[in-house]
Amino acid sequence: MAQLLDGKTLAQKIQDDLKTKIPDWVAKQGRPPGLAVLMVGDNPASAAYVRNKERACEKIGMASFGKHFPADTTQETLSEAIAQLNEDEQVDGILVQLPLPKHLDDVALLHQIHPDKDADGLHPLNLGRLLRGEQGIRSCTPAGVMEILKAYDLSVAGKKAVVVGRSILVGKPLALMLLAEHGTVTMAHSRTPDLGAVTREADILVAAVGKPNLITVDMVKPGAVVIDVGINRVVNEETGKGRLVGDVDFANVVNVAGAITPVPGGVGPMTVTMLLQNTFLSYCRKLGV
Ligand code: NAD
Repeated sequence: MAQLLDGKTLAQKIQDDLKTKIPDWVAKQGRPPGLAVLMVGDNPASAAYVRNKERACEKIGMASFGKHFPADTTQETLSEAIAQLNEDEQVDGILVQLPLPKHLDDVALLHQIHPDKDADGLHPLNLGRLLRGEQGIRSCTPAGVMEILKAYDLSVAGKKAVVVGRSILVGKPLALMLLAEHGTVTMAHSRTPDLGAVTREADILVAAVGKPNLITVDMVKPGAVVIDVGINRVVNEETGKGRLVGDVDFANVVNVAGAITPVPGGVGPMTVTMLLQNTFLSYCRKLGV
């Protein structure tokens, strides 16, 4: 039976640590770190994510400057809001909750966020720094995965790592982070023929696709570390109740893997935590510490 990689407890530990540190900083600096989340429209999933982020901020004593815009907001209005937040001394982190309504250009807005306030680590400058191996703000979900590996002493150096999924949000930056830790990294995606042949090679296997049960037990090397980034809502046809599952057939893979993240309670809680950590680090950098 695989070791469970408990992202929920780890996330709580990191958040508790931030919560302990922040009052000292407030006493010294006269203000807490601040995060501004911009949300457009009423997408219920986005609204839930935003609430989650704002609540997490408040719980640890960070200021949250949420801005909620109607679905028909113009690019110009959002652009002005970002320009103001870039200048705002109280704000250390800015993020635009994606996806945005179709009439808006999300890439242009991401480019406009000041790279030092880019709490999500998705600005091209920060992605470029990652590519070059320079210090910079790292994107939250892949950073959360790396934090889990580190916390459980699962070394990457010399290991074969396979990342399934090549999005700019998860797969690509994660592959670069694993490479920076000296893994031998392979990326697989929707056009990879015989996915199982690739994943069976992995000492560390990451699934970041968004398809329940994509990774079945026969695709996993015995003893491998399996990180499930996927979040999928599936509905039980008999009860009509929905529940969250990952991309990995957890019930069976847990019997062959060496270690595995559950869904929920694995990578998910780490993502929000890395967002708080990024904001806190931006605050510290701004103060020159
Ligand atoms: P995305 O849709 O942008 O990318 C999915 C990737 O999967 C693509 O690169 C595609 O090539 C690949 N893919 C699609 N079908 C495939 C197949 N059959 N075989 C192999 N690869 C295939 O998604 P994303 O934003 O990267 O998110 C991926 C999943 O991770 C989603 O379930 C999302 O909800 C979840 N997610 C979770 C967190 C978290 O905090 N845990 C954060 C972000 C995303």
